[in-house]
Amino acid sequence: MLVEKSAEGAISALARTLDQSLILIEDWDGIIEHWTSGCQHLYGWSADEAIGKFADDLLQTLPRDSFDSIRHHLRATGTWQGEIQQTAKDGTSIFVLTRCVMLSENQDRRPSIVSTYTDLTGSFKIQRELEIANERLRTMALELESSNAELEEFARIASHDLSAPLVSTRWLLDLFYSRYGSDLDEEGQSSIQEIIQSLERMTNLTEAILEHALVGTGAIHANEASDAEAALSFALANLQKELNLSGAVIKRGALPKLFIAAQPLAQVFQNLVSNAVKYRRSDTPLRIDLTATFQAPDWLIMVEDNGLGIEASWLERIFQPLQRRYGSEISGSGIGLATCRKIVTRAGGKIWVESELGRGSKFCFTLRGPVH
Ligand code: ADP
Repeated sequence: MLVEKSAEGAISALARTLDQSLILIEDWDGIIEHWTSGCQHLYGWSADEAIGKFADDLLQTLPRDSFDSIRHHLRATGTWQGEIQQTAKDGTSIFVLTRCVMLSENQDRRPSIVSTYTDLTGSFKIQRELEIANERLRTMALELESSNAELEEFARIASHDLSAPLVSTRWLLDLFYSRYGSDLDEEGQSSIQEIIQSLERMTNLTEAILEHALVGTGAIHANEASDAEAALSFALANLQKELNLSGAVIKRGALPKLFIAAQPLAQVFQNLVSNAVKYRRSDTPLRIDLTATFQAPDWLIMVEDNGLGIEASWLERIFQPLQRRYGSEISGSGIGLATCRKIVTRAGGKIWVESELGRGSKFCFTLRGPVH
């Protein structure tokens, strides 16, 4: 936009009215001709101090080549707009969005430039702080990932190395028992049985820890969707014996395809269903309902039983490794639900339980599926 120089009077009247705004008029050589109270407020110099000074020197304008490039652009189009950095009288950096308009040449004078400024310092600071916070988050995530990987490696090696002495102890114990078992009195016999049971518990525990540590070493979040129906069938087939013994009645709703690899999904179903069997009530026939509903943008999968139930204080804890509500009267490692949580969260979902003591439990997890 070219403004006729004859409008100079009108412009300076406007500048007076807009004295509180950030408006600066400089001549073609960059010498400040007009400086508003708004400029004084932002930069710190009074009009007396600023007028007659070379604007880019006074304000330490960056980038340095902006003087030439702005004039080049003004000559071509009559206007210029962009972000520049300046320095106030007290040395603080100021970021401004500048809009320049050229006052066109007439015979006696070269054009002047009217610049209006919008102070962006606040939003620049926020942006910078956000960038720093993001950077810190990225570093923390990397550190967490590497310490997780180290922990997993430790658990994997420890549980793997523990299983060898457990197997040989069991083997020696069986040998001892077959040779000398008949010489033992009743107390000796029951001690041996206790040792065998403890060894079995330890073996189960090391196997569960190993299984937990191995979650995530394979692909969990499949690029292609797996069929939850097939994963559940696989899990139920593995649990056939326990299911038959418990007399469980299983009700299966239609299950969707989900973005998770088939093996870890089957493991989640297997852990949840085997828990429903383990923590059933002795006085009520066991029922297990498996259903899915779409709750945009995820699928919600539910495994509901009519078993012992869980009191409120345990609802969170049971998803942590080794947290067991019951003692050795119900066998278990306390790792199964922690593994479920690790699988589901790594696949991008959430897992939780809704339950009341004595009234059964509903384990729920969410996962994404192909567009519904
Ligand atoms: P484990 O069954 O080997 O002890 P889990 O991690 O699978 O380990 O479960 C942790 C605890 O959560 C169990 O010890 C039990 O107290 C509770 N729990 C899990 N599933 C159920 C369920 N279906 N009904 C009642 N309690 C359950």
